[in-house]
Amino acid sequence: MALNPGPGHRRIACPLCGKGTIRLAVDSAALQCSRLKWKHDGFSGGHCTFITREYDSIPLKPGERLVICDFTPFAFTSLAE
Ligand SMILES: [Zn+2]
Repeated sequence: MALNPGPGHRRIACPLCGKGTIRLAVDSAALQCSRLKWKHDGFSGGHCTFITREYDSIPLKPGERLVICDFTPFAFTSLAE
């Protein structure tokens, strides 16, 4: 099931690696890269180290603001056609 928050929303690309998208960590409310490095029980994966709780530090285009839809951060602009 694809998440479709409606027109004017776009996924936010990770400002560090440019490949992942920004996600919300439900347990910590931090914004982090979808390719974030992880390690668990001797396994590891991911490549990126981008994580922040400073919502203002997420780069957006002029006219956009950060909105959280269904635990997913989006850049939202009400000026979308
Ligand atoms: Zn990243």
